[in-house]
Amino acid sequence: MASTIDLRAVSRLVELPRDVYRLLERPEQETRCTLNIVYGGELLCMDAYVVIHCSVRGPGKGGIRLSADVDMAETSSLAELMTYKCALVGIPFGGAKSGIKLNPKVLTEDSRTSLIMEYVHCFKHILESGLYIPAPDMGTNAGDMATIFGCTHIPECVTGKPPRIYGLPGREEATGYGSATVTKMTAPEALGKEVKDCTVAVQGFGNVGRWTAYFLSLAGAKVVAVSDLSGCAYCEHGFTPDEILKCSGEELSRQRQRLERESLFDLPVDVLIPAAVGGAINGDTAERVGAKLIVEAANEPVTPDGDAALMGRGITVVPDILANAGGVVASYVEWRQGKSGEVMERERTYSIIEDRLERAHSAVRKASEELNISLRQAAHTIAVNEVAQAMVERKWVHVPA
Ligand code: NAD
Repeated sequence: MASTIDLRAVSRLVELPRDVYRLLERPEQETRCTLNIVYGGELLCMDAYVVIHCSVRGPGKGGIRLSADVDMAETSSLAELMTYKCALVGIPFGGAKSGIKLNPKVLTEDSRTSLIMEYVHCFKHILESGLYIPAPDMGTNAGDMATIFGCTHIPECVTGKPPRIYGLPGREEATGYGSATVTKMTAPEALGKEVKDCTVAVQGFGNVGRWTAYFLSLAGAKVVAVSDLSGCAYCEHGFTPDEILKCSGEELSRQRQRLERESLFDLPVDVLIPAAVGGAINGDTAERVGAKLIVEAANEPVTPDGDAALMGRGITVVPDILANAGGVVASYVEWRQGKSGEVMERERTYSIIEDRLERAHSAVRKASEELNISLRQAAHTIAVNEVAQAMVERKWVHVPA
């Protein structure tokens, strides 16, 4: 089974017991269920997946993706990424992910609730055991997490809930807050200027894209373009934070200028933030990219050939396991809050995210400089090493004397 990251490259940089790689190459658990709901008088049957990749550092953490394209392979790959993300930012979770194979656009509010209740019904044993703790991902939201809590009555068995329902103030915007924070940290070293002097284009205007754009515009960056499935909205002088929060992508392009969706990649901006789908920047797209810095707010938005092409062009890429880790850090805080009953303030959530990302960012930067490798290779090396040490400590692998 192929790993989602280049484990062979990592093995050339750090010496680890061979069995570590064998354990990382395949997930611990893959479960598939059929979810059945009656919708508009018709029976709707769809596949749903839960994958726990590795639990050596703690229970599996990862969002629920609701998409017509998701399958077991994609869910597995995203679960593995979560293993490394949690390890990189030093939170005691393993990697996991869920997928539900359905286009969320076809759902009414009521049928969405039925679907999530059916999901809990089918995966109840995994959710209630605490082995897997879901959160929102593409296509799911805080309301869905409230539905999961409503079925289990266990506050810590799901994160990303609305603040009134055992949620965490600041969790909704946490991933975007983290992506904007990492952009601020990286801009001076990659571009030689502060983020307030940068122009930015953001692909995806859902939870992650919108909040990333908002926090960057608040920091003074000029967010000149945002795209979603409806197209690309462009404003030479930059959208205001208020517009970014209140308008849909379609409204922005009606009020300002509309471009072809894909032309976002060609724009001569300082920073490009893919915050939509996996595989958005492939070998061909990479040749057209007009930015000098890419911050992967989405999971796996750059394909391996895209990555090689970007590297060849001297474009810095901040990898997903660092760039979008703000969400899982906040999820950890929410999980702790659920267990202890303590109530956190929004500002405290922000400062914990900043602290974790700052530490991870400087470790990645240092390893990248010392070993003369990309930020992605550095992040993967640190994360795999961390997971490996946990495997050694738990005696999951044998270390020859
Ligand atoms: P979402 O469903 O809220 O938003 C996705 C957005 O992408 C929508 O605006 C959609 O219109 C747009 N989109 C889809 N295809 C597009 C395309 N081809 N071109 C332009 N726009 C397109 O999803 P989200 O929660 O914001 O997640 C986005 C990405 O961030 C995913 O890769 C997800 O795995 C990752 N992520 C999310 C979280 C989180 O907390 N939600 C945490 C970490 C990583």
